Order: sequence, then C-alpha cells, then structure tokens
Amino acid sequence: MPFKSLFPPVPLETQPYGERMLDVLWRHGAANPTKKAMICAENPQFSVTYHDLYHGSLSVAAFLETKGFKKGDVLLTVLPNSWEIEAIWIGAALRGVIFSGANPFYGSYEIEKQMQDSGAKMVFCDDKSHEKVYNAAKKMGNVKIVVAQLWDRTKKIPTSLPGDYINFEEVLAAKPNVLTKAANIDVKKDLLMLPYSSGTTGAPKGVMISHEQFSTMVTITSSHTAKHIYGALNPNRDVAAENILLSLPFCFIYGGAMLQMSLVLGQTVVVMHHFDEEVYLRSIQDYKVHFLFLFPPLIVMFANSPKVDKYDLSSVEAGFSSGAPASVDICYKALNRLPNFKRIDQAFGMTETTGACALPMIDNTRTVTAYSGCLLPNFEVKTVGPDGQEKGPGEPGELLIRSPAVMLGYHGRPEATANAVVDGWYKTGDIARVDEKGHIYIVGRLKELIKSQSLPVSPTELENVLHSHPGIADAGVIGIPLKDGDEAPFAFIVRKNSNLSKEEINEFINGKVAEYKRLRGGIKFVDAIPKSATGKILRNALKDMYENGK
Ligand code: AMP
Repeated sequence: MPFKSLFPPVPLETQPYGERMLDVLWRHGAANPTKKAMICAENPQFSVTYHDLYHGSLSVAAFLETKGFKKGDVLLTVLPNSWEIEAIWIGAALRGVIFSGANPFYGSYEIEKQMQDSGAKMVFCDDKSHEKVYNAAKKMGNVKIVVAQLWDRTKKIPTSLPGDYINFEEVLAAKPNVLTKAANIDVKKDLLMLPYSSGTTGAPKGVMISHEQFSTMVTITSSHTAKHIYGALNPNRDVAAENILLSLPFCFIYGGAMLQMSLVLGQTVVVMHHFDEEVYLRSIQDYKVHFLFLFPPLIVMFANSPKVDKYDLSSVEAGFSSGAPASVDICYKALNRLPNFKRIDQAFGMTETTGACALPMIDNTRTVTAYSGCLLPNFEVKTVGPDGQEKGPGEPGELLIRSPAVMLGYHGRPEATANAVVDGWYKTGDIARVDEKGHIYIVGRLKELIKSQSLPVSPTELENVLHSHPGIADAGVIGIPLKDGDEAPFAFIVRKNSNLSKEEINEFINGKVAEYKRLRGGIKFVDAIPKSATGKILRNALKDMYENGK
C-alpha cells in the first residue's frame, strides 16, 4: 500500500503566484516599513525593504509589458543571488512570463543549452557573465540582454561590453499601470518557472512547474517551518524576526524555494552571492542566525575548518541539510564545534517535485537524525523493486512519489515525461525506505545523477561536451565517491589519437562548464565504452571498471 502523509492535506493555492507575492510584500512592508527583506552578505550596506521589493517587482512587470512580453514567454537569469532575481521572478510571474534560472558559474556551453532549450526571449545577467551570455545569444538571434549592476545602484556598467543591451536601471524606471497585473493566469496550467534538472537520466531538461504547484509548496513549507522548526526550537520567538542566511543558489529549487518561504514568513534574508567561508561565518555572527539551511559541504566546513573558531557562532541552535546525503559522523563533529548547536536533521526533495517532499519535525533534543525528513502534506510514496512490484512497509526500493506537486512534465520532451511519471507516480531514481511515521531514509541512488559539492551534474551533459572535442571518439562519465560523502565526475575516454593528454581534456572541459562539474574524479583512457545492444552506456560496468582499476 502506498504511504500517505500523516499530515492533513493542504488546499491548493488559487491565486497567481505574482499577485500573492505582491500581497505578501505589501503586507510585511506595511507592518514594518523599515524592515529589510534582503541584505547583501558581502556588502551589508546594501539592502532592500519589503516595499523596495514590491516596487521593484512591479517595475519588472511593467518593463516586460512595454517590451511586448506575453503569457508563456520565457526569460532567463544568469545572475548570482541578489534581490534583483526576486524582483525579476515576481515581476515575470505577474505578467505570466516563465522564469528560468541558470547558474552564473555556468560556462558558455551550459548557458547556450538552457537558452536554446527554454526558448528564452530575454536574458538578465551582470557584467561578469555578459560575455558568455552575449556569445550564446548571438547564435540564437532574437534574444534581448539586460545587464544589472547588482545591489549597488551607483556603480556604472562598463561601457566596453559588446553588443546592444538594456541597463537594469531602465527596468527599474518602468512605471506600472493598472493593467500591469492583468495577465489572466490559469494557475493549474500556466507555468511559473522552468528550472533545469537531468532527472534520472540524460541531459538537463526544463521542469515545468505551475503557479499552483509552487505557491502551494511555499505554503506547505513555510507553515511547516514556522510550526515544526522555529516554533519547536523556541515557541516564544517571533518567526518573522528571524534572520535567514542563504548561500544556496536561487536558480536551483532548494535555494529558490527557501528564499520564497522566508519572504512569505516576513523574515530578513541575508543573501550570499556565492559561497565564501569568512562571509558565511561572519554573517551568522552579525545577524545572530538561529537556524541554518545546510548542504553537506557546509557541514564538512563546520566540522573541519579552522575559521569556525574565529567567530561567535553561539546563536546557532539547529539546521537541516538537503541536496545530497549527509554523514551522521560529520554532523556530530559539526555540532561539537559550536556551543549551542543542538541538532542537524535532513530534508529531502527534488526539482521534479517542486522542491521539498519531506522536512524534519524538530525538538530540543541534541541529536543528528539519519532519516531525511517526514513526508509533507499532499504527498504519497511507495517503494518498488526492479520488477516494478511494490515493496512491503519499511522495505527499501526505488522511491515513487505521487502529489499535486509532481511537475507538469519536461518542457518539449513528452517521451522523457512519460518515462518519468507513470500513472501519476514520479520515479525518483532514489532508493529509499519509509517507516510508519513517514520518515524517509534515502539508502542509495539508481539514477545517473552525480551530486558534486551537493550540486547536480548530469553525466550525459559532460559526455556531450567531451564528444564535441575533435580528438575524442567516445566518452562515458560516472560519479565516484570522495571523502566526507562528496562525489565527483570521472570520465572514461576513447581517444581518436593517442597524443591527446588528460591536461588538454581538462583544459577543454574547464572552459565550458561550471567548476563543480569539472572532472575532479579523474580521467582514464580506455579502448571502448561498454554499451548495451541499443547503444546505452552501461554505467554499472563503468563503475566496476573504476573499482577494479583503483
Ligand atoms: P535536485 O533536483 O537537483 O534537487 O536533486 C534531487 C536529488 O538530490 C534527489 O533525487 C536525491 O538523489 C538527492 N537528495 C536530495 N536531498 C537528499 C537527502 N537529504 N539525502 C540524500 N539525497 C538527497
């Protein structure tokens, strides 16, 4: 029997997401006009209030309207975490424009692919990523580029940037009118966002998420967090008075969803452009952060980094980790470094389920939990064996998830959608067991996905890049385990010419993809890549080859 969440179901949201967020921003701003919604961690003199965010979002909507954007058009951001991303996201939502976020650390290859596949008509970037974006946009033809000077409005965008671009100042100067919000959105069908995920197999694909899905998940996660995390930690504290520190990239579902959740709760979000130990630790100290949104490499930092001792981290009481498995031993090591750090729990989710499926219910016990959270409202799960037969209660098998939060499908890929979602059940590619309390234990992974520094890497994407090298005849990529639970891509390569060196290959790939996708695991030259009769790479055979060659 499938296991249904023990929480009562939550009604699906009916208001379009942009309108809902405008109401939220207005309400929090009205309650406290000077309250900061978002602060720049690197340069804390820069911040925005809830009303700044409200007006910025409306200006983005008005700007998109003047540029002729219609419901269903797509815009792409290639921006580091910043308040501008939030204003673009909400502004786009108001017009029914679909928001697709790309990692600013992506190389030209990844940006080009996401731009092409999503069909984005406009890209928002900063001066640092402009060259990559410009080169990709040139190949596509009719794509407009907007360049933002993040946070600091006094800084000028360098005049040396090639091509035509719109300055983000022009966006902020756009004046909304009464029609700005009138996009006539069908919350069930119209897409709010198009994040990219490789799912269980293949290259990254656009995950179609509706207004209803994302908005309902924001409701579920924010009320769960208020009650079972902040409320359980200290019921006398005002949840809205909490400062949240986010270093997770907003372009991925974990970071993006946590940002929305914190704004809905009326908190102040301290935003990191990209991860830096000193900035992270100093921000915890300065903003007296009580609860941490973690991923495994951050826990390793707390466990091992000498810098942890330089700061007063006594405010930290607890945190949860998500994105990849966290080692219980390392979690305890991390707890031991901070005076009041009581517990680390885990949360579980994925892009295809609109983020979190399971969040922890915490209390004040000092502990590290081995399971990855309790199944949230509106979710049902079951585990199945390789033959598709359902497993008994508590028995491990592939985890299947059914929920109104399961994506509408992969953009432009009906076949991949049909393989991933069968009779409403999304096949996660994770091996799990679920106990009678709805605790999810992730015990393994069937899918190809590699989590390098907790960020997703598709082996197929790396193979495609390797195939584009003139000296490479064939390639197969797997993830290999590193110390402290991290994974790294490792490539088996068949050369066309035996002079091609590993250094040349690394140089080639490093120029094209984000740093965490580099072949940190290594490269091995082989005569052939093992394949099935239908030409599919046999990744388990590659894993055996790796083990035997160690
Ligand atoms: P993404 O769509 O990039 O967020 O990746 C989702 C995948 O990350 C899941 O299917 C899991 O394989 C992995 N994952 C997420 N959270 C956890 C967790 N707490 N423990 C183990 N694996 C996790």
